[in-house]
Amino acid sequence: MDYIIVGLGLAGLAFVEELIKANKSFIVFEDDSQTSSLVAGGVYNPVILKRFSPVWNAKNQLAIALPFYEHLEKKFSQTFDQKFVIKKAFKSIEDQNNWFSAFDKPTVAPFLDAKLDKKTYNGVIGEHYFGNVKEGGRIDTHKLVEAYRKYLKNNHWIRFEKFNHNDILFEGNLVTYHNLKASKIVFCEGFGVKQNPYFNHLPLEEVKGEILTIYAPKLEIKFLLKSTLFVLPLGNHRYKVGATFNHKDKTSIPSIEGKDELVEKLKKVITVPYKIIDQSAGIRPAVKDRRPLVGVHHKYKQLNVLNGLGTRGVMIAPTVAKNLFQHIEFGTELDPEIDINRFD
Ligand SMILES: Cc1cc2nc3c(=O)[nH]c(=O)nc-3n(C[C@H](O)[C@H](O)[C@H](O)COP(=O)(O)OP(=O)(O)OC[C@H]3O[C@@H](n4cnc5c(N)ncnc54)[C@H](O)[C@@H]3O)c2cc1C
Repeated sequence: MDYIIVGLGLAGLAFVEELIKANKSFIVFEDDSQTSSLVAGGVYNPVILKRFSPVWNAKNQLAIALPFYEHLEKKFSQTFDQKFVIKKAFKSIEDQNNWFSAFDKPTVAPFLDAKLDKKTYNGVIGEHYFGNVKEGGRIDTHKLVEAYRKYLKNNHWIRFEKFNHNDILFEGNLVTYHNLKASKIVFCEGFGVKQNPYFNHLPLEEVKGEILTIYAPKLEIKFLLKSTLFVLPLGNHRYKVGATFNHKDKTSIPSIEGKDELVEKLKKVITVPYKIIDQSAGIRPAVKDRRPLVGVHHKYKQLNVLNGLGTRGVMIAPTVAKNLFQHIEFGTELDPEIDINRFD
């Protein structure tokens, strides 16, 4: 066969889509050891609202990502993409001024609405008003990954078991893994790459994130509210609230500390009563220079890695998967900013 894929989160499914389009044969391994793509908020937002700076390559990434998710919606006859306005609640006058300064940045300005929103929204703290970001939205990554795994299962293209790196044998240009012979392996393991002896030298860092789902009967907002944390509308007065950033904890287990942090921050965002109905956690595969980790092993050319999607897997995955596929198949140059060569 052509490919073995290890891991079916956003990275894995974006790469598999390339394989299907090109009529390649493949098998996926998935062992449920990581949860990032299952628990993600799924938000795509072209602007970093802490600094009002552009997200790296946002325009190009969105141009590839949005049709990608639209195609999957058609493929599965399901809705994954929910478009909404992102409303930044200003913390101070200074925060407001920084927003207006951002109009000087040509990569940010097209996404910002010049008119401040001075409305009041029941239960939302907004004494310094709101700024609207356009072209944002959310992919329901949990629904998407589940649908994708089911589709692979129905086609016998996935094995729900751990891929054991020690069992790889190299035979000329091929690899053998148990009863399989393949030309290439692509590792899309998220934080699981730390267990991968071929790529665990890469500087991937754990950034655990936790998210709450709340039921707030008196809160009725249809936009994504961005303040010290985000409040994301799910419908029926349910909202996702997140997320934490923890650089020490390497587990995907929801914690009391995570919950307390979110509850504390939420006090500065909404004033209405709510009930916590769920809490989830995962590890973001983050990199210090905030660029993905993509490329070919320096010695074993059959082995490839697609990782380091950090906090923005939704926007980045389709672009980098395409770049890696074209690099492997046609020798197209990898974007030097994502190429693992920068660390080898
Ligand atoms: C709380 C939280 C909120 C987030 N919010 C957003 C957001 O709003 N927007 C956004 O764009 N991003 C968000 N992210 C980041 C996003 O989740 C990641 O960028 C993305 O999901 C990473 O995808 P991945 O496929 O690289 O990794 P993963 O989703 O971790 O997938 C890797 C897969 O590989 C499997 N695997 C690993 N090792 C093996 C092995 N040896 N054998 C078999 N299978 C294996 C794992 O089980 C896993 O399913 C958030 C993350 C968290 C934790």
